[in-house]
Amino acid sequence: MRVHAIETGRVQIKQAQIVGRGHGTWRQLQPVLSREWADWSPVYAWAIEHPDGVIVVDTGANAGLKSLPRWHPYFQLAVRFDIEPEQEIGPQLRSRGIGARDVKTVVLTHLHVDHDGGLAHFPHSRILASGEEIARTAGIGGALLGYLPNRWPKWFDPQPLVWQPTPFGPFKRSARITQAGDVIAVPTPGHTPSHLSVIVRDGDEEIMLAGDTSYLESTMLSGTVDGISPDEAVAKATLADIRALCAQRHTVYLAAHDPQSAERLTKRRAVLAADRRAGTIRAA
Ligand SMILES: [Zn+2]
Repeated sequence: MRVHAIETGRVQIKQAQIVGRGHGTWRQLQPVLSREWADWSPVYAWAIEHPDGVIVVDTGANAGLKSLPRWHPYFQLAVRFDIEPEQEIGPQLRSRGIGARDVKTVVLTHLHVDHDGGLAHFPHSRILASGEEIARTAGIGGALLGYLPNRWPKWFDPQPLVWQPTPFGPFKRSARITQAGDVIAVPTPGHTPSHLSVIVRDGDEEIMLAGDTSYLESTMLSGTVDGISPDEAVAKATLADIRALCAQRHTVYLAAHDPQSAERLTKRRAVLAADRRAGTIRAA
């Protein structure tokens, strides 16, 4: 299966968002309070060329994100986007020969603005997202959490993903995205309480499209919680599950904002392949 990394512009956030500082509410305030900006990061979305049709995982950012709500402290003080209309996912897929009608399914890892920003390019697709995540975006509570459902296309009516009690590696539940079960979703709560990841099973390789489960492969490996996750213990448990998967199988871990993700995909470079062979990578 061919998987495309689509870089939909760049985002700049604080270092304390990538690597959480301290604990509890203090940790969650640091992305706004800290003045230490990280380097610009890519905003990746993914397209899987599958016999059933193209599957898009996350839709990336859009050029409208250069203007963000002024009343919201996070949007005002903690994030900046750099993206032009031609960098949105629709035009980039077209330049690869993939039109909107070729995309049968879109799966959203979560509904933050740099993951649902390209939805307008997929009016003909089945769109899957976590039901709890969709509910979390509603009302003033959703707005305070940084969701912008008012910017969704009018027709957007995602199908809630239904989890099956079918384990996959260390994950107790999973959901088939394709009939053949070669593209599946697994719950990866942490960054948001109902965040999910998509795993492409290509031969004996697993390509994990991990959304914002961590911002970097290195912070997944070190079990470092970001500055956003509401529950530190939940986030840590998910990172441990991913390390357990990496210990069991050849897993290419692709976080949405890791500058190394595109190269890892091209080279199909697994997490700590050498350590895995030596049996030294541990799950916790
Ligand atoms: Zn996010």
